[in-house]
Amino acid sequence: MPQSSQTLFKTGLRVASTKLNSAIMPAWLFGAGARFQGSRRDRRQMRLLVIEDEVRIVEVLQAALGRAGFTVDAVATAGDGREALSLVTYDAAILDLGLPDADGLDLLAGLRRSGNRVPVLVLTARDAVDARVLGLDAGADDYLVKPFAIAELVARIKALLRRPGHALGITLEAGNVSFDTIGRDVRIGQATLQLPRQELAILEHLMRRLGRVVPKAVLEEKLYGIDEELESNAIPVHVHHLRRKLGELGASAEIHTVRGIGYLLMEPAG
Ligand code: CA
Repeated sequence: MPQSSQTLFKTGLRVASTKLNSAIMPAWLFGAGARFQGSRRDRRQMRLLVIEDEVRIVEVLQAALGRAGFTVDAVATAGDGREALSLVTYDAAILDLGLPDADGLDLLAGLRRSGNRVPVLVLTARDAVDARVLGLDAGADDYLVKPFAIAELVARIKALLRRPGHALGITLEAGNVSFDTIGRDVRIGQATLQLPRQELAILEHLMRRLGRVVPKAVLEEKLYGIDEELESNAIPVHVHHLRRKLGELGASAEIHTVRGIGYLLMEPAG
């Protein structure tokens, strides 16, 4: 086993956090987010998590996905994968089913039960048809059987990331506000709210992280694909408009500002 891989596997998540305190780890892990202000190039990169214990596969994936412009973290156990997914908002995850400490499908099912909708591409050597069905039932968005062509995997990941609402038809809810992630439809009670794409993206992210602080830098990153040149005050301005529109239609959920850090969406108390 090459030295670099041994190091990677032994240190697990620490590799990710050391490598990436400027680009991968959310700002709230570091306080006010100063270190999250990476270069534009860093912030534009999509972040993927590979949960796979076969070193050679990890190396190939990291190289190919890196060349394709992704930032890739890798962990070798279900436990580390669970922890990474709870700490970092990944754009997608690649999950091996045969992990040393647990079945990848159990990790996936637990993830979905907890409301985490990160797009997951399952990698497995089990090529039986029922294993595929099992994976999709557990909440996998796509499935690739080993051995696979790396080009196909990269193409599938790109396809997953292009799907609206990141693949799964779910309705997010906060108080009387609902957000259909496929139709990109926002409703407040019975009323439909039309929003520009930037405000939709912010609202979706706040709803996905309901009750938790979302750093401004994370929202900026979400908007990056929409606004090529993001003004420094873009987020506060979009949030201001969004808050006003929600208020006008009597939304019971409110966007709170956490000074110097970011925003959080709160459901009405009681
Ligand atoms: Ca394995």
